[in-house]
Amino acid sequence: SRGLCPYFHTGVRARNQWKDDGPGGAACCGDPLLFEAYWRANPNLGTVVIPGWYRMSYLTRDNAAILYTDALLRTIRDLHGMVGNAVTKDRYIVVGTGSMQLINAVVHSLALLNSDRVSSVVAKAPYYSAYKVQTEYLDSPLFNFARDPARFTGNATGRGAQIELIASPNNPDAQIQEVPQNISEHVIYDHAYNWPHLSPITKASDHDIMLFTLSKITGHAGSRIGWAIIKDYNLYRTVQWYVVLNTLGVSHESQLRATQLIRTIIKSYSEGIRNEKGLFHYGREVLESRWATIQSILKNSSRFSLQELKPDYCFFFAQIVDPSPGHAWIRCNYEEDVDCAAVMLSAGIIGRKFGSGNRFVRLSLLKRRSHFEILTARLTKLVAQTSSST
Ligand code: PMP
Repeated sequence: SRGLCPYFHTGVRARNQWKDDGPGGAACCGDPLLFEAYWRANPNLGTVVIPGWYRMSYLTRDNAAILYTDALLRTIRDLHGMVGNAVTKDRYIVVGTGSMQLINAVVHSLALLNSDRVSSVVAKAPYYSAYKVQTEYLDSPLFNFARDPARFTGNATGRGAQIELIASPNNPDAQIQEVPQNISEHVIYDHAYNWPHLSPITKASDHDIMLFTLSKITGHAGSRIGWAIIKDYNLYRTVQWYVVLNTLGVSHESQLRATQLIRTIIKSYSEGIRNEKGLFHYGREVLESRWATIQSILKNSSRFSLQELKPDYCFFFAQIVDPSPGHAWIRCNYEEDVDCAAVMLSAGIIGRKFGSGNRFVRLSLLKRRSHFEILTARLTKLVAQTSSST
């Protein structure tokens, strides 16, 4: 199998183009293929037929500089309204070619609006590795990746604006996070995982800048649809302009597909959220069970430990729900296991390192069932070997 994720390990790898994942590549990437089974089981949902003449123009309406279909924007707002995970009233929405494009679009735009100084882009470890790799690779004169926000204080003088990237729930460890006030001037909340199948919805997020992606909602990562919800009009216009200059908008086919997929979710819950056939029920059931499996494999291991997650009340499901994270964030506890990813690799499991040293490795729980079964078989064997050798 060919894998994209080795890109994100380090800046050096990032320039190495495609790299063969090898047979254990299953656990490396966050590619959300677990949703494929849902769409296969419901073939009448989400299907889109596109005639040859459909939206050939750059614009979505003749003679109007409109990048996105009204239907998509309305559907996104309706989805947030139904789920209750983000405030969209009186906010602007910019759609991008995946939230990957929007991470840079927002960082660049914030830096541009503070262009009298060089901004620092920071993220607290462990953070989604693309923040650093993308920022460094694009190598802008307007900003640098400066790693750890704790190194800066709110009242330091003569420094550039600090732009903090924070994923909440976090990738890799699924923890819900907030940035303490007065640390960074600008905070970009990446809510890729703030959906009821991945994490309990505890409130409607109301931050100045929030990013979302279709990839982790419906699993359609290949459609490359993400959106930013932005409070400030100037920032919204600047981010929009980035999308115009960078990709001249977003694929109209993808917009249509995203609209249809999201409408399907909304419709499946329109008769009340008890609908067990809904995508969020499906995703939660699969991920809760995968998490329980990983927990039971590692529970008696002294060599490996797993992140701690607690059940919490979810407003969407109107009940307390068990953890259902997209990733297992594993720590190698033995002193000699200095490189946790290498330990996994020795057992045929390719995990991913993040910006927090070599002691930890991330394993994806988001892939197809067959991949997950290979992962658990290999992990079980590794743990058993360890127990019998100690
Ligand atoms: N943010 C986070 C935290 C992610 O995990 C990912 C995908 N792995 C992205 C952004 C990028 O998502 P997209 O597919 O929309 O580019």
